[in-house]
Amino acid sequence: MAKILVSSCLLGCAVRYNGSHVEVHNNHFDWIIETQEIVPLCPEVVAGLPVPRVPAEISGGRGVEVLAGSAKVLGINNEDLTEQFIRGAKRALQLCLQHNIKYAVLTENSPSCGSDYIYDGSFSGAKIVGSGVVSALLKREGIQVFNQNIVGRLRKLLEVSRDK
Ligand code: SF4
Repeated sequence: MAKILVSSCLLGCAVRYNGSHVEVHNNHFDWIIETQEIVPLCPEVVAGLPVPRVPAEISGGRGVEVLAGSAKVLGINNEDLTEQFIRGAKRALQLCLQHNIKYAVLTENSPSCGSDYIYDGSFSGAKIVGSGVVSALLKREGIQVFNQNIVGRLRKLLEVSRDK
């Protein structure tokens, strides 16, 4: 059994900026939840941001650039939330190191948790290829990050390592 870091909002917790959660209808996701040890986390909430909160997007880059200091996370009201998002990412990494977690399933499109796509910073609904701040940091540290749309790949990996 592997320990998997999972975004709290995928697990029914109403922690998104608008006080909602994300519905997941995916057999592979259900299998992971039922068979693995799940460590839930909302990086934005552990960073001290409230629920509900202003929607935020990465401006001028992706999660990697936020970590490097060349892009920011801005609220729709132009509030600079970069520090809180980096703090949340560091807390996520700390939790992974503490629990020896090698895999994460994080919410796609989020400026924190997105792993393949994030919103482009224009608050228009447009997306770009790239990772949010949490996913960028975890990937950099060798943790494999999946999202709710590609979680079947993680199931395959876990089944192969179980059969060895
Ligand atoms: Fe979900 Fe991640 Fe956003 Fe928290 S930070 S609400 S876990 S997508």
